[in-house]
Amino acid sequence: MSTFKTVRGMRDFLPEEAKIMKYIENQARQTAELYGYREIITPVVESYELVAAKAGEEVRARMYAFEDLGGRKVALRPEFTASVARLVATTLRNEPKPLRLFCVGSLYRYDEPQKGRFREFWQSNFELMGSEKPEADAEILLLTNRFMKNVGLKNFTFKVGHVGVLRGILSQEGLAEETQNQAMQRMDKKLYDETLKIVKESGASEKGVQTLQKLINLRGASTTKVLKDMAEAVKDYPEAINAVKNLGEILNLTAEAGEKLNVKVEAGFARGLEYYTGIIFEVYVPELDIALAGGGRYNRLVELFGGEPTPAVGVAHGIDRIMLAIQEQKAKINVKETPPVMVIPVNENLNAEALKTAEMLRAENIPVELEVMGRKVSKALEDADRRCVRHVVIVGEKELKEGAVVLRDMQKKEQRSVKIGELAATLKRQAS
Ligand code: AMP
Repeated sequence: MSTFKTVRGMRDFLPEEAKIMKYIENQARQTAELYGYREIITPVVESYELVAAKAGEEVRARMYAFEDLGGRKVALRPEFTASVARLVATTLRNEPKPLRLFCVGSLYRYDEPQKGRFREFWQSNFELMGSEKPEADAEILLLTNRFMKNVGLKNFTFKVGHVGVLRGILSQEGLAEETQNQAMQRMDKKLYDETLKIVKESGASEKGVQTLQKLINLRGASTTKVLKDMAEAVKDYPEAINAVKNLGEILNLTAEAGEKLNVKVEAGFARGLEYYTGIIFEVYVPELDIALAGGGRYNRLVELFGGEPTPAVGVAHGIDRIMLAIQEQKAKINVKETPPVMVIPVNENLNAEALKTAEMLRAENIPVELEVMGRKVSKALEDADRRCVRHVVIVGEKELKEGAVVLRDMQKKEQRSVKIGELAATLKRQAS
């Protein structure tokens, strides 16, 4: 027995799991269609500079980065947004806005493997480029809500915050962007004491520190109440006031769309990726304490990559974690599968005839598995039984002379001779 196994943090998906992953991916693709997002495919290998630019300390430190044989510093993509922003800054720069782009694929981060955290994982990713309006943010929330519903999840909640509120205060307090990033990283990890220490030591006023402290503790079930308290807490910081208003507008719009999103506003919520400038959010289910999706507004990334100033908002859904949530909630997934028909030659002289019959059925879109082990009919039938095959076609000399084959119904344990010309139609009738 070989001792080869998957590399730590990497997984094989066996057919049953692969089926769920593909089902989720297809639901994401349908969501993209419903909201007008066009699919693009970007490379797994990107330049290190690109993916490192605004990924944030946490992701940057965990990249699969290496030099390729041509001496280029490259990395396996740790997320999609940088690749999409690169495209919008270059090839797609003259495309009319808004641009709605969808992609799905694998990403790589050298995270510590644990439940729901892998080194290779899958995301479906939606980016809406070119609009700074709250309708755009609301669309990203609504499509995420619909996707989660369509994959069969229940009781999911949106944890929502706004980077503009926090950055508005830190900027007015004179903190450099780099220091702000450090503070936000700590907040993302809920290291609030460290956050306040950094802010204090960077010369923020006592009022600034207290405001931040207030925001960190501000959360609750009533969106209206939290928003009101936030507005009150930041009343001396004009940029932060605007950010609170923006958050209120977005959430109002989603409510007016008629979808009851389960939203929990947390004023002190921050996310690790540095490029966010506006609303940020994550999706959770009660059964798991890890986020199923994360997203937000990033208005400066395309410009940073040399493109036109392009306000943008997007979301990444973690397909692996959605699969975990589906399993935890025992959600029913609705995959239509046609069981294959098995074609068995009676002896090896009839292999070519069996193959021909199989191809004829496949040309009619009927899935077929051919007996390829050279087994006797009785053994092949046992195998068909074990694998719950419903119909078996037995290709025998006697019937062939009359232009026919034997069609056996494994459940009813009945068989009869069917003309080859009528076989496909007969099987289709029985399947419907
Ligand atoms: P992010 O790109 O960090 O905003 O993450 C977006 C989503 O991707 C998260 O909410 C997770 O669902 C998923 N995700 C991120 N990192 C991992 C990982 N190491 N393993 C599995 N899923 C992940």
